[in-house]
Amino acid sequence: MIYLDYAADTPVAPEVLEAYCKATQTYIANPNAHHVLGQAAKARITEATKSIATYFEVAPEEVIFTSGATESNNLAIKGIATSGRRYGKHMITSYLEHSSVTGPMSALAQEGYEIDYVDLLPNGQIDLDHLKELLREDTILVSVCAVDSELGTVQPVQEIAAILSEYEHCKFHVDATQAVAKMPVSMKGIDLMTFTPHKFYGLHGCGVLLKKQGLRIDPLIHGGVSTTIFRSGTPTAALIIATEEALKLYTAHQNEQYEYVTKLNQMVREALSKNPKVMINSPADAVPFIINISVKEKKALAVQEALAEREIYISTKSACSTLNTPSRSVMAITKDRKRAMSTLRISLSHLTTKEEVGTFITAFNEIMNA
Ligand code: PLP
Repeated sequence: MIYLDYAADTPVAPEVLEAYCKATQTYIANPNAHHVLGQAAKARITEATKSIATYFEVAPEEVIFTSGATESNNLAIKGIATSGRRYGKHMITSYLEHSSVTGPMSALAQEGYEIDYVDLLPNGQIDLDHLKELLREDTILVSVCAVDSELGTVQPVQEIAAILSEYEHCKFHVDATQAVAKMPVSMKGIDLMTFTPHKFYGLHGCGVLLKKQGLRIDPLIHGGVSTTIFRSGTPTAALIIATEEALKLYTAHQNEQYEYVTKLNQMVREALSKNPKVMINSPADAVPFIINISVKEKKALAVQEALAEREIYISTKSACSTLNTPSRSVMAITKDRKRAMSTLRISLSHLTTKEEVGTFITAFNEIMNA
């Protein structure tokens, strides 16, 4: 089996699983309980929260635990929509966003919020001049991903933050789900940041929203004491501890892993660019973990299925997008519907071997030439 869909999900690291199992057995009590067992669980949660906060150079109060990146994105966007509505109902996002960003934005549009989509440059980056044109006094939120899940484009987050600093009521949300523990990320100039450990060898069922101290957002879930007032429900000590472990493990090695995956990426790009039936959609300076291509003369789904018959697993778009619809990201940068209808995403990891890449390329070329 060759797994090349790491942007959708990663296998849990043994160390993370061990930390989870140990924590589940050690902290058996509800961390909200006043007895000694509850207080022990609470103390360990506080310690893990501090260590997560330290990595991002934020205060522990700025770390909100959720069930995943989808919930974190919803909380950021709907939370600002409600708390910021006295200043306006205008929001800006991009065509590269995950459906957990565009979904809540579309839902808010039904409630009278105005959503604008900023243009993209041919390399997939936000057109900063267009962003400046779209910004208004009543813009309350700009939501842009650090790295998008389909193309792997890296956005100029700090430049966007500098532009937004002139708009007092406009908050900046960054979906960093495809960036955290893979490359350096910073909360500088950012009000809200999303990530989830299941994209870096952590567990499902846990997500984080970092929220600048003092920024008011309205919660989506009410009732019950948690680690913050922004997301209720008994905190799950073991998931929080496993998140701490995944972050610790993968941020420590992110540079060497980035370098290694860059070499794999070059192998894939070089081989695929020799095939006249392949168009590479990911920009040359995208993260090495993601390579998005379009295929000619074959249906992308058929290629994906033929690879799956050989136990090689890639995706057609991001895992959460609808099948048989054009890729919005590829459509936005190429303006070519046919190209956007025939996309495939290969996503790599430090766990991927050069042999696996070789086997994939041989199989892919055979399928394309059949
Ligand atoms: N944001 C981005 C950029 C993603 O790639 C994903 C998952 O693919 C999500 C959000 C949603 O993550 P989750 O599965 O944790 O809800």
